[in-house]
This record gives sequence, C-alpha cells and structure tokens, in this order.
Amino acid sequence: MYDVIVIGGGVSGLMAAYSASKNGKKVILIEKNKKLGQKLLISGGGRCNVTNRLPYAEIISHIPGNGKFLYGPFSIFDNENIIDFVESRGVALKEEDHGRMFPVSNKAVDVLNVFLRELEENKVTIRYNTIVEEVSSEDDRITGVTLTDGEVIKAGNVVITTGGRSVPNTGSTGDGHKFARTAGHTITELFPTEVPITSSEDFIKAGTLKGLSFSNVALSVLRKNGKPRITHQMDMIFTHFGISGPAALRCSQFVYKEQKSQKRNDISMMIDFYPDTGKGALQEELDALIKESPNKSIRNILKTMMQDRLAEFLIDYNGIDREANSHHLKNEDKQKIVEFLKGFTFKVDGTQSIEKAFVTGGGVNLKEITPQTMESRLVEGLYFAGEVLDIHGYTGGYNITSALVTGYVAGHSAGMK
Ligand SMILES: Cc1cc2nc3c(=O)[nH]c(=O)nc-3n(C[C@H](O)[C@H](O)[C@H](O)COP(=O)(O)OP(=O)(O)OC[C@H]3O[C@@H](n4cnc5c(N)ncnc54)[C@H](O)[C@@H]3O)c2cc1C
Repeated sequence: MYDVIVIGGGVSGLMAAYSASKNGKKVILIEKNKKLGQKLLISGGGRCNVTNRLPYAEIISHIPGNGKFLYGPFSIFDNENIIDFVESRGVALKEEDHGRMFPVSNKAVDVLNVFLRELEENKVTIRYNTIVEEVSSEDDRITGVTLTDGEVIKAGNVVITTGGRSVPNTGSTGDGHKFARTAGHTITELFPTEVPITSSEDFIKAGTLKGLSFSNVALSVLRKNGKPRITHQMDMIFTHFGISGPAALRCSQFVYKEQKSQKRNDISMMIDFYPDTGKGALQEELDALIKESPNKSIRNILKTMMQDRLAEFLIDYNGIDREANSHHLKNEDKQKIVEFLKGFTFKVDGTQSIEKAFVTGGGVNLKEITPQTMESRLVEGLYFAGEVLDIHGYTGGYNITSALVTGYVAGHSAGMK
C-alpha cells in the first residue's frame, strides 16, 4: 500500500513524485517507458528549456491556453522556485533570449539527474516499462490503479501526469484523458498547437517558395472581417506543405480556433515582410531605388531589396512586367509591390496532426480542478498536473513551467494527506 501513486514519469510526474515524497510519504512512480523524462530530454532542442524567467504576467500571456489558471499554483511554487530547485542541487542555469532558462552545460540530462537523485534519496519506488490501465475509485474516493497485466496497486492518492497526445513515441498517448473521463471529468476538445500550418495554395503545391526563410516578419491569422486575430513577429519558413518556423508554430492554434469560429477550413493568413517600416517609407525606399537606376529592370531592383525567389514570385503573382524599368513601370504596379510586401495574404487549410505537434491543446477541464491543490473537485485523492490538463503555451519554457509548477502542487497536496 502506497500513500501516493504518480502515473507518468515525464516532466510533471518527476516533480510530483519528488514533492509527494519530500516529507517521507511512500510514493510509487509508474512509467510506461524504460526511461523517465523523454520529453524533458528533447525539449528546447535537446538542451532542456527548464523554465522561463519573465514576470508572471508575461509568462501567462505566453500561455494562451488558460494560462491564468496558473496564478493559483504559482502562489505555492513558481518559476523562481524551479530555478532554485535545480540550481541548489548543483546544476547552474543561464538565461537566454525572452527569459528562457537552460542548464549552463546545455545538457538536458543534468536536469533529469537532479530529479533522479531526489527520487532515490526520498526512496520513491520507480516502476519502468509499466502501463497503468485503469484508475479506480469507490464512493468518489480514490482507491488505486490497475496495470495492464492486471496487478492492482492501492493508494489513497493518485496523481495523473500522463501528458497530452503529441509525439506519442515519447509515451504520451492520451491515457490520462481516458482515466479522467472514467472518473467523471470532462475533456475539452483536443487539438494540435505549436505545429506547422498547411496550405493548398498553388504556389505552395508547386514549391515556389519552399525552403525560403525570413528572419523577422509579422505573420497574422485573419478573422472573417480580414482583421488580424493574432500577429507574431518572428522567424518563419515556407515548406513543401505550408509554413513553419517560430511565427507559424505560435499562430497555429489560432488557425484551428478561426476554423472553429468561421466554421470553414480555409482561413486567411497575412505576412508583412517589412513589419518595422510603414507603407509610406517603403514606397519612398522603392522610389529612391528606381530613381537611382532608371534603366534597371524592376526585377533587378527588387532583388536588391529581398531574396531573389521572393522577388520573382512577387512579380509573377502580381502580373508585373519583370523587364519594365523606371520609364515603363506603372504607378499601380509600384503600389502592388508595396501592398504585397506589407500584407501578402494567402489561404491555409489547417495544421499538421496532433501527433506531430509540440504541444496538445485542450485536456482535463480546469473548472473541475482546485488550482491551489490540483485536486479533482469530483473525486477525493485524485490529482492532475501537466499537459493532460487544458493548459497550453507557446514553446519557450512555458509548457514546462506549467508542468513543473502544477506537478509540484499536485504532489505536495497529495503528500500532505
Ligand atoms: C520536441 C519537443 C520540444 C519541446 N520543447 C519545449 C520547449 O522548448 N518549451 C516548452 O515549454 N515546452 C516544450 N515542449 C513541450 C513540453 O515538453 C511538454 O509540455 C511537457 O513535457 C509536458 O509534461 P508532462 O509531464 O505533462 O507530460 P510528458 O512529459 O509528456 O510525460 C508524460 C509521461 O507519462 C507517461 N505515460 C503516459 N501514459 C502512461 C500510462 N498509462 N502508464 C504509465 N505511464 C504513462 C509517458 O510515457 C510520459 O513519460 C516540447 C515538446 C516536444 C515534443
């Protein structure tokens, strides 16, 4: 008989097992894989983006999927506590752009080892290669879990940290949603977030811009009325199926949300290739270039302003005579060029699958969870933490912060019972 069972030894489960066991409670951590922390090891490009040092309000604004819920758990354990937790155990962290925190060694395994040492010290039983099949309760009170081989493990407290449904070869296959449903919880609709966006535009299908990347463009998802629902000014790349790169990943969940609200598949997106230059200034820049080289073709002038393939595409797309020089270029063509560069609009038809996404949107309904304890409001002794919940953020340490913070609070509360 254990005091606490933690299901899933990913980011959140590692922290939950630590916090549940820190006061001497008997804790078992059950993990499907032969190793713990698969996603922790691959996050942040394999360097483990362990948390983010921005102030609360900034962190919350980077968690568009119910970030505000985290104010409750933050009152008990927050991003600075994560930093202290890791650094006080001998792994120095460094801050990179946008508050992202990484181990100075750039080795994710150093962070994982902090948890492994704590679990060993606190005598947490770890069962590898073991899959929980069912979570059991009686009279709205948790009694334990059943494994796939039929073994029953009893405990008065169960923490579900099974993650979402993204990148299932890491072990996160959505089992926790099934357990939650059986316990009477509702699961909000699951959808892919932080995922490349797909498009059936001819220029995409033809691969015209494939592989072309831009370092600082403003990418927007447009509402039905043509106004931006969201804009992200970051890097992006055209691919053989659509668009990818940081700006596209961040926009992806809004493509899904606009599809829902417009009740249609094809959604408009817009790229401003010169987000820091106004239309007037861009027009002047173009005029000056044309004036400087009156006999140069517009095609060659544009190639001094941008990548060759974008210039070629712009000309074809707008039906401009590529050989026209200052004497022949029409004023309306100059306008078309500026309009294109400040607001190239194209259709997208969705995103890649939830399995390919970095993060799963949707999950266990937060209305059914007490934020200060992470305990279910429906079943006593049942706790949830991490991506299994209806919380999703941008990459940049926000999801990991959410997983570690809710994991700490869930484990701590379960270990206090
Ligand atoms: C490639 C990649 C890069 C990422 N980079 C970032 C980043 O830079 N910043 C950021 O904030 N987020 C990033 N994320 C997202 C982040 O890794 C996740 O949000 C986070 O790991 C969620 O933690 P979790 O503990 O809820 O779930 P997970 O870490 O997915 O852990 C769930 C665990 O539960 C186990 N499990 C599932 N079902 C069962 C069962 N029935 N029985 C036993 N065990 C089970 C799984 O095997 C797994 O070990 C990235 C994700 C990916 C895929």
